[in-house]
Amino acid sequence: MQIVWSAQQLKHTGTRFVRAGQIVPSPEVPERAEFILNAVGARGHTLVAPPDLGLAPILAAHDAEFVAFLRTAHETWTDFAGAGAIAMPNVHPRGANARRPSGPVGLLGWYTGDMACEITADTWAAVYGAAQAAANAARWTAERRQTTYALCRPPGHHAGHDRAMGFCYLNNAAIAAEELRRSFARVAILDVDVHHGNGTQDIFYERGDVFFASIHGDPAHYYPFFWGYPDQTGTGAGAGATLNVPFPAGSGDGPFLDALTVALAGIGRFAPEALVLSLGVDASVHDPHGRHAVSDGGFRRMAERIAALKLPTVIVQEGGYASAQLGMIVADILDILA
Ligand SMILES: [Zn+2]
Repeated sequence: MQIVWSAQQLKHTGTRFVRAGQIVPSPEVPERAEFILNAVGARGHTLVAPPDLGLAPILAAHDAEFVAFLRTAHETWTDFAGAGAIAMPNVHPRGANARRPSGPVGLLGWYTGDMACEITADTWAAVYGAAQAAANAARWTAERRQTTYALCRPPGHHAGHDRAMGFCYLNNAAIAAEELRRSFARVAILDVDVHHGNGTQDIFYERGDVFFASIHGDPAHYYPFFWGYPDQTGTGAGAGATLNVPFPAGSGDGPFLDALTVALAGIGRFAPEALVLSLGVDASVHDPHGRHAVSDGGFRRMAERIAALKLPTVIVQEGGYASAQLGMIVADILDILA
């Protein structure tokens, strides 16, 4: 399988974020990609660096002012007196009457959804590299009708049309889906990360040509809390083209695979011509951050069912945090989908 990866994705290093009232070390670290690279490197796949396709694939999924903000945020931040070395928000707007401000603290709050999106001097380079990996993987899949893997890091599925959130800045899966749409009339996105892909849902919520299905821990008690409910099904032209299938917190293989069955049935009814798989493996029992209990065998059964769709597929890496098993789980899934 073609694996698309840019070394500049290692440039962003997550340092800290706030969880349950405590400042804790960020689990979204470059070692995640290195675990995966080490494991897949031993399986005979082809590693390619993505050619630069410019901003066009990114702007197909994101607001232009938001993208301009991400490119310049760190520079603007460090220009004001008393700023810390890393841009981190301390206020977020809520409600229809909130107005986009012009100063760096207000803008950072405007364009982020939580405190898990710190911006360093190299964050843009890393997220731009991940977006290029996703766009190029999709182009390869469209041209060759072959399944391709974009080793995207930082991840993307919490990033909405104009908002960074949950370690995600640019929505790599949405960028891949838009790229596929240039060649296919109907595209489905299947998100199996243990957290709901609220950013992807946001981008396609009113679209009837891109179906979004997500299986994830019940958001009533689990991040991202405000999205991922079964009655969020899309609106306007997108009515019925969003399918959320939560499972109880702490679930293992049974509820996870039952949710997958429901999601795959929805995708089957939509009858897509191509697929984006938002591949988070943080539902794993080995994951240090995800708090669920899916076994390695459970992930292999998941991959077998997705392979049975026999669709040209772009696999986009989402979550899955640094552990010795992380790379092996991803490598096993790629072997099955190859
Ligand atoms: Zn996740």
